[in-house]
Amino acid sequence: MKQPHSPSKAPQRTCLGCGQKRPKRSLIRLCLGSGGVLAFDAEQVAPGRGGYVCGEGCLEAASRRKAWVRSFKGKAVAPPKGA
Ligand SMILES: [Zn+2]
Repeated sequence: MKQPHSPSKAPQRTCLGCGQKRPKRSLIRLCLGSGGVLAFDAEQVAPGRGGYVCGEGCLEAASRRKAWVRSFKGKAVAPPKGA
């Protein structure tokens, strides 16, 4: 079955929590804001480095694994809780 818009062409990003590749649109983007604090980037357009997770569970998993620190070269502060 062929589709005019192949889903495989959608930009994909790796979730920092579970390590699975998913369409960028279905992920939550976080970016490094002023002061090195992670901020949610709802529009996925903030400049600078960003990281992706597919849900709150993976956000916590990424925090526990210090995936943010690695992704942002040690500058990241823990993501906001309950935001
Ligand atoms: Zn995930």
